[in-house]
Amino acid sequence: MLTIASRCWLCQCPLHLAVQGICSVCLSHLPVAPPCCPRCGLPSSGGHHDCGRCLQKPPPWDAMVFATPYEPPVSGLVLRLKSSRFPEPDTALARLLLLRWLERYRGNTLRRPDVILSVPLHRQRYAWRGFNQSELLARPLARWLHCEYLPGALSRDRQTTSQQSLTERERKWNLRKAFTCHTRLRGKHVMLLDDVVTTGSTVREIGKILRNQGVASLQIACICRTLQT
Ligand SMILES: [Zn+2]
Ligand SMILES: [Zn+2]
Repeated sequence: MLTIASRCWLCQCPLHLAVQGICSVCLSHLPVAPPCCPRCGLPSSGGHHDCGRCLQKPPPWDAMVFATPYEPPVSGLVLRLKSSRFPEPDTALARLLLLRWLERYRGNTLRRPDVILSVPLHRQRYAWRGFNQSELLARPLARWLHCEYLPGALSRDRQTTSQQSLTERERKWNLRKAFTCHTRLRGKHVMLLDDVVTTGSTVREIGKILRNQGVASLQIACICRTLQT
C-alpha cells in the first residue's frame, strides 16, 4: 500500500519517488510570479536588475529567491508545515525552493552559499510548537546544496508580537534587538532561510546583524514571498 509520503501533497496521485512530494502536473500549474527584482523579490518591470526601491534604499542582502508567490496552493502547505509536526510537507517545500534556486544559479544570479542559517523562533515558541519550520526546510536544502547548516547561529531573544497588525514603524520597533548572532561569519557567503517573507522586516533586522559581522554576501531564501508592496 502507498503511504501518504509517496503521494502528491496537492492532488494525492501516487509518486514514483516519494522525495518529489509534488507531482509534475501540479508543479506545472503552480502560480508563477511576475518579473521580480532579483534583490527584494517584489514585482519590477526590469526583472533582471535591482529595482528603483533597492537602488534608492538598498536592503542589507544581495539577492532574494522564493519558490512561489504567497498564494494557494503552496500557502496552504506552508500553513500545514507550521501547524503539524507529522506528516509534514517539509521536503516537498524545500524541493520547490531548490528548483527555483537552481534556475537562478544557472542564470548566474545566485552563488552557492557556504552556510545556511534559518530565522529562529523564540525558545518559548519553539517549546510550544516543538519545532522550527524554517529549520525543517534548511536541513534538506543544505544537504542538496552541499553546504553547512548552522541551526544555533541565530537566536531570537525577545518574544515579539505578531507583525501583521503593526505599522512599518511599529514593526521596526518590535524587532529591534530581537536577534543575536552567535557564530563568526566574516567572509562567508550566507543564505538566510525563512518560510514566508511578507514585509521583509524580520530578514532586514537579521540582515543588518549579518552585515555588521562582515559576511561576504547574503541571500534570502523563502518558500513564499508576498508580492504586494
Ligand atoms: Zn499532484
Ligand atoms: Zn528591489
